[in-house]
Amino acid sequence: MQPSQCSTCGAKAASAGESICKYCGTALHEDFSKLAIALGRTQATRSNDTRLAVPITFLNRRAAVTLHWLDFDGNAQPYGRVEPQAQAPFNTYVGHIWSIRDAESGHELLRWAATDQVPRQIEIE
Ligand SMILES: [Zn+2]
Repeated sequence: MQPSQCSTCGAKAASAGESICKYCGTALHEDFSKLAIALGRTQATRSNDTRLAVPITFLNRRAAVTLHWLDFDGNAQPYGRVEPQAQAPFNTYVGHIWSIRDAESGHELLRWAATDQVPRQIEIE
């Protein structure tokens, strides 16, 4: 097994066993991205004003999606569209709620709360 290369910053992992990029927090293996999604999955209807900045990147592995930030009053603020295989980096905050929706139907695929743990890369599939 070859050491992985980070898809965000391009750094090479020192060994094949490394799961998280030590420079930017990107998941080097798919399983760790799934864990970050599972930990952040939420039913929350609005963001928490924590002011703890956290950089995250949405990576779209399916048909086009749209991103909405649920603001402090629970209003969905549009943050654009992510095409298939495209990445969308954001500086967000711990406790901020993101709604990822199918661009075609508007159906919500994932509601996710930003957390302060690595990996910082969230794969949508
Ligand atoms: Zn990296």
